[in-house]
Amino acid sequence: FKVPVAVNEPIKTYAPGTVERDQVLAAYKELWNANTEVPLYINGKEVKTGDTAAIRPPHDHQHVVGNYHRGGKKEVQEAIATAIEARKTWSQLPWEQRAGIFLKAAELIAGPYRARINAATMINQSKTIFQAEIDSACELIDFLRFNVQYMTEIYAEQPESTSGAWNRLEYRPLEGFVYCISPFNFTAIAGNLPASAALMGNVCVWKPSDHQMLSAQVIVEVFREAGVPDGVINMVNADPVMMTDEVMTHPDFSGVHFTGSTSVFRSLWTKVGENINNYKTYPKIVGETGGKDFIVAHSSAVPAQVATAIVRGAFEFQGQKCSAASRAYIPQSMWPEVEKLIRTDVESFKMGSPEDMSNFITAVIHEGSFDKLAKYIDGAKNDSNADVVIGGNYDKSKGWFVDPTVIVTTDPKYVTMETELFGPVITIYVYEDDKYTEMLKLVDETSEYALTGAILGQDRYAVSQATTALENCAGNFYINDKCTGAVVGQQPFGGARASGTNDKAGSKLNLLRWVSPRMIKETF
Ligand code: GLU
Repeated sequence: FKVPVAVNEPIKTYAPGTVERDQVLAAYKELWNANTEVPLYINGKEVKTGDTAAIRPPHDHQHVVGNYHRGGKKEVQEAIATAIEARKTWSQLPWEQRAGIFLKAAELIAGPYRARINAATMINQSKTIFQAEIDSACELIDFLRFNVQYMTEIYAEQPESTSGAWNRLEYRPLEGFVYCISPFNFTAIAGNLPASAALMGNVCVWKPSDHQMLSAQVIVEVFREAGVPDGVINMVNADPVMMTDEVMTHPDFSGVHFTGSTSVFRSLWTKVGENINNYKTYPKIVGETGGKDFIVAHSSAVPAQVATAIVRGAFEFQGQKCSAASRAYIPQSMWPEVEKLIRTDVESFKMGSPEDMSNFITAVIHEGSFDKLAKYIDGAKNDSNADVVIGGNYDKSKGWFVDPTVIVTTDPKYVTMETELFGPVITIYVYEDDKYTEMLKLVDETSEYALTGAILGQDRYAVSQATTALENCAGNFYINDKCTGAVVGQQPFGGARASGTNDKAGSKLNLLRWVSPRMIKETF
């Protein structure tokens, strides 16, 4: 079971004058004008239905960079049928062959595809080069490499045997096919949802987000070149309600690997419940959903550290991370200084197109997101319980641009303390220094979600108190750090409550959901 030792892909700097900077800018220019057509990929074939939608960069919504095809019931059924057919050989392929394919995919992204997958992510999802590099290059490469290592560790876990009886666990894939539904915000997640299930011997029907089709196409091309056989990963964009209906009423549906909103995930559970008598096997339901992630500062924290955790946690990636900091609890004695530091930082940010690499922040993903953010910012401006103290402007004339915004509220249950906004907006509740214990209780009570959270403080008793009081509030809990930026191989990622099934992306726990082990006892 020896495979190359997984190491995290080093993050390239893209400093002026570097080859990688020139390469990614060239790829960006090419894709910008290429009028790319993204078909469906079913059984390894490109399928063009003629039912198309335009792909527009969020930072320049009048520009069309291409279009993607949408499938109907026929294409969804074809994808299912072809996956079931492909399973006959894929599930029998020795694990070394599957490992070889996905290790090659990692190397293709690390090398020849790096500029293109980053450029596609910059254009399609409006990420700066640094955001794209961390996501679509490094994190995706890490998922592919570490999962291969984890797979072999799983296979090596075997029961005890005696001289007269040999007990062995066969980690078989699920019987049926896996439905993968991926979000716009991480190209790495889009690649990992089908790749992790397929690595364990499963076949997939994959529905990417409408807002990630350009980079989804690059993922498909990487998988094909790496040698993923036809039919193993089928990519279909289609009306989500229709597609889910077709897929999840099928008797061979054996699992869903989901990242996206809490409400959609809940509807998938309902769907499984409604169809439970139709399936050959109980489906696995694995989902990472929303978050309302917190930063808690104790009065012993270093103000500069608190400010950095807020700025980076809330505004990097335009706040469009499930893990993004979107509420913070700051002691009264510290807030004036922290506010000043945040303001200085935010005032130095440049916002604009990812093509200009000096920009720190770009546009949010689409009009719906922009409108939602604008609505809550305006709400805070007009509410006596809230104050917009930093940012608060937005402009949609060219792209969906929303300023990094800080709201301060006197009401710990204020609407933006509880509602996931998925953008560069954080709400601060300033608490009285001597009400720390009460504040922790309040955080727990108001945590409908439980994805990420952070405690900052130098007083170890206070840190310990928070660690215990908030034990059910975050699947990923950070001490003296921001609450974002989990690295594959270092911090397996996922949360509970309304944030998901906590099956930790990038870990053995996740891969174990994609197997249906057979225990074999052989006697002599
Ligand atoms: N893994 C990412 C992080 O820790 C977040 C992924 C997500 O947004 O779903 O920041």
